[in-house]
Amino acid sequence: MDSEEYRRRGKEMVDYIADYLQNIRDRRVFPAVKPGYLRRLIPAAAPDEPEPWETIFSDVERVIMPGVTHWQSPHMHAYFPALNSYPSLLGDMLADAINCLGFTWASSPACTELETVVMNWLGQMVGLPEDFLHLRGDSPGGGVIQTTASEATFVCLLAGRTEAIRRYQQQYPDLEDAEINSRLVAYCSDQAHSSVEKAGLIGLVKMRYIECDDNLSLRGDRLKEAIAHDREKGLIPFFLCATLGTTGACAFDNLKELGPICQEEQMWLHVDAAYAGTAFICPEFRSWLEGVEFANSFAFNPSKWMMVHFDCTALWVKNSGTLHRTFNVEPLYLQHENSGLAIDYMHWQIPLSRRFRALKLWFVIRNFGVQGLQRHVRESVRLAHKFESLVRSDPRFEMAAERHLGLVCFRLCGENELTERLLKKLNSGGQLHCVPASLCGRYVIRFTVTSQYTTAADIAKDWSIVRATASRVLDELKQQQQQRPPPLLAEEAAPEARAKVRLAETREKNADFGSSLLLANSPMSPKIVNGSFAAIFDNSDVLREFARKFSQLRLDVKDSPAMRRRIRGMMMSGKQFSLDSRMDLVQSSLVRGDPSMPLMREASVESEQSLEAGGERSRSFDGPEESCILEEEEGDEGRKMCRRCGHCLASQAAE
Ligand SMILES: *Cc1c(COP(=O)(O)O)cnc(C)c1O
Repeated sequence: MDSEEYRRRGKEMVDYIADYLQNIRDRRVFPAVKPGYLRRLIPAAAPDEPEPWETIFSDVERVIMPGVTHWQSPHMHAYFPALNSYPSLLGDMLADAINCLGFTWASSPACTELETVVMNWLGQMVGLPEDFLHLRGDSPGGGVIQTTASEATFVCLLAGRTEAIRRYQQQYPDLEDAEINSRLVAYCSDQAHSSVEKAGLIGLVKMRYIECDDNLSLRGDRLKEAIAHDREKGLIPFFLCATLGTTGACAFDNLKELGPICQEEQMWLHVDAAYAGTAFICPEFRSWLEGVEFANSFAFNPSKWMMVHFDCTALWVKNSGTLHRTFNVEPLYLQHENSGLAIDYMHWQIPLSRRFRALKLWFVIRNFGVQGLQRHVRESVRLAHKFESLVRSDPRFEMAAERHLGLVCFRLCGENELTERLLKKLNSGGQLHCVPASLCGRYVIRFTVTSQYTTAADIAKDWSIVRATASRVLDELKQQQQQRPPPLLAEEAAPEARAKVRLAETREKNADFGSSLLLANSPMSPKIVNGSFAAIFDNSDVLREFARKFSQLRLDVKDSPAMRRRIRGMMMSGKQFSLDSRMDLVQSSLVRGDPSMPLMREASVESEQSLEAGGERSRSFDGPEESCILEEEEGDEGRKMCRRCGHCLASQAAE
């Protein structure tokens, strides 16, 4: 393609994009395809000869669009919003053309300097204290754009870890990093995003999940209790991730109470406001920010609600020196004559290279203005409020948590199963799309108001679909009840009593339980199946998919070091988070030529039920004993593999 053709094709593409976004309401939000649909539509190998652009482009509607979930649709209410906007798209078009890698100031001065200034703008816009900004050349604070909120949390956990280790080594110079590391303990609430758990897993620190109060908010007294308990055991509390706007119900941890405790205990306080952060552009929502002055770091995603499209996570720290200490490696080829005088963002993040993301942020802030962004936030909140009143007006429904900002959590009164059935029917209809959450053992539907193009009429239409679908679900139930004999066991007769189980209890009962609330399959079961898949398809579909994946297992994975590492990580953590991870375990047993494979297959298919009934079957998949880690053996491709784990897996599976 030459530049003449690029001009022509580029204009066509811009037209296609504008048409797509303008008419997106007419598309089904959630696609009607089954796993594996795309493989059948394109060749299995790359073309030898160049293909004309027409042919390539025509495949977008044929191959891609039928399998797209349309996140920009006004009827997309799943997850949190991931909005774009025209100035944002234009910003990335330019950034992609420049395609500089802004790791140091010298690698592209505009990339670094624009980011610093725009992050100051944004910090002021959301009302952050000045210590978080980079207002003078020597201010230690400042903002940086990270790829995701998960990465921001991880970066801050590592920085907090560096600080804690340094502090303890000053006190006890004989202690090794690893010895201190093994005693570190981090905290978050039981409502925190699964990325916090992940940060702890890969940072190799213990993570305590503290139970929230009745408003799903983490409170000071509970944190104090947990810290005292851990100090007694000789552990070192070093990090708290507080959430403003939790993923499950958009609840807010109490920063005013938590902040002073962290300061007193010399713990790093990170604030994850991935979704809700955008709302702080409006002063009326800033009461939740009180106490942020105690935080060491604060992050939110303009890529969620602020119409700056993915990826763009804004992270501010008060002391960038700690990031430097954590990430500083400086080979000669990256030094430049202004080293030390300007920000080199490579020291503020995990990767070396970085995209010119400040451009789209700059374009969006200027083109909407602060007032335009405030209007956008207020309109989303107004529409969510409207949906809330519709829910409250129908006695068959209940609000499952207090509504905050643009998220409404609701459910059908009665058993969890009703709401689960309702959600599946809604999603398979494809006219609107929502995902579930589990709040204190209750299955709820999360409805977020997403697009900036959503109107009151869209919301009314969504509600009429929800109501009509609910009527169908309730009618079906009535018919089933008429056919079914009355329950014999008292336990069966009181499903509500069984349904209310706190997360902490589910963890005690079942150590395999992962903590992602958003995509938990059903409140009391561990995520042995892919959560989003299970939220959308019928149970029989899920089982069929499960069986299909089993039948496709191939033996050649034994050559994959990545797979082996993953398996080892899972065995060490003792948890299986998804269908895929269970697959890996099965594959690893196949690799070892384990004859007990059929047994494992059976156990896995049954495990959803058996785990709910007390988790006995799951024992065969428990992680290795602690001593396993000590007995390592070189794997055949030079990777370290644990001999004991191998034994554990093979012998346990045979049981
Ligand atoms: C969405 C969300 C995340 C994860 O965001 P990524 O940018 O995808 O990593 C983390 N925390 C909270 C509270 C979220 O809502």
